Amino acid sequence: MMNIRNIRERAAEFQAAADGKGIAVSIAELLETDDRRRELAGRAETLRARRNRRSEEIGAMIADGRRDEARREKESMRADKEALAAAEAELDTVLQRYRHLMDRVPNLVSPDTPAGRSDADNVVVSVTGQPPRFEFEPRDHVELGQIHELFDTERGVKVAGARSYFLKGDGLKLQRAVQQLALDLLEERGFTGMDVPLMVRTRAMRDTGFFPTGRDQAYRIEGEDAWLVGTSEVPLIAYFADEILDVTEPIRAAGVSTCFRSEVGSAGRDVRGLYRVHQFAKVEQVVICRGETEQSERLLQEITRNAEDLLDLLELPYRKVAVCIGDMSQKNYKQYDIETWMPSRNAYGETHSASNVGDFQARRAGLRYRGEDGRLHYCHTLNNTAAAVPRLLIPLLENHQLEDGSIYLPQALRPYMGGRERLAAP
Ligand code: AMP
Repeated sequence: MMNIRNIRERAAEFQAAADGKGIAVSIAELLETDDRRRELAGRAETLRARRNRRSEEIGAMIADGRRDEARREKESMRADKEALAAAEAELDTVLQRYRHLMDRVPNLVSPDTPAGRSDADNVVVSVTGQPPRFEFEPRDHVELGQIHELFDTERGVKVAGARSYFLKGDGLKLQRAVQQLALDLLEERGFTGMDVPLMVRTRAMRDTGFFPTGRDQAYRIEGEDAWLVGTSEVPLIAYFADEILDVTEPIRAAGVSTCFRSEVGSAGRDVRGLYRVHQFAKVEQVVICRGETEQSERLLQEITRNAEDLLDLLELPYRKVAVCIGDMSQKNYKQYDIETWMPSRNAYGETHSASNVGDFQARRAGLRYRGEDGRLHYCHTLNNTAAAVPRLLIPLLENHQLEDGSIYLPQALRPYMGGRERLAAP
């Protein structure tokens, strides 16, 4: 839960963050609701104390044999009882509204977050490598996939509906190779690999800030308090919920999971091939550190660098963009996206998303540490994609294709691909 005192002190900033992120919440209404909540809680408390005191007095009267007096007193208490019940009922309603509003208050954004409404307003920070210049008519990943029999979207749709696919043969090998390369790189850099539950409770989705605002993106398991995860960030943060953590060294976890996304709101977008699918595999970086902005900023740069290094190993051209407020979700304080060149789109496409979440998730999930001052503080949390596949296969196949249809395999991938230098044209 966010800190209401902080929201009160910086009300205008919180409203601006909500407006900038397109979240419909009124901070003024929240503060009024908070006032009402305190007033009602105070009134209920006073009435409860008076009831208890008078009950004791009545007990004493009965013990003294003053029965008539006790009966009169009891009757006169009825009004108090009704007032207490009314205050408690109203408090209940006000509390529900308070929680509803609090759940929607966004994280503030960093001072260097660009203004803007959508991804079109993101600001390019750096560009690495050059888009390839083909001396032949390049094929898109769907054609390359057909030539090499890497995946099957037609049967995917037959079996599982729109945005579904089967990976097969070298397609599956490539998918696993990219993931293992990412995992090995992260483990070398102090991350602990973790395979996570793919179904989590509502609390985990809420605590990590995916609910309520992202609820429509999640698939529910019918009849159970269980949801399919859209990213391993959810179980990895929830793993530490309600704990006092040792973050002398930041906790670095590399989550490996399948991810499920309903992609509600994307109807008709990116329908060809493997760009936007309902189910994909991801190696995700999750970091938990002390609640100090300088440290989490440094770690944001670190996890962004990890993703860039992976793309360098894959010999792919990419750029890093500073994400504008209008393209940021409720929980994020600062965000970079990395976009990799995709020849068939004649554009860079998002392959990685790095976020400093500040103390937003830590407050909701109860992730704390004992500071040098001996007191408990909330941690900061961060996350970034390391490798999301099959989307990353798009630039891999398309940028590395050769005229004869074969596909060059970058040096770093070869140990995971049986030492092969290319996927030979059949
Ligand atoms: P996100 O967790 O939404 O920041 O996404 C992280 C990365 O996962 C993106 O940069 C993509 O590479 C990948 N991704 C997200 N959604 C999809 C999707 N529907 N289909 C394929 N890949 C996705």
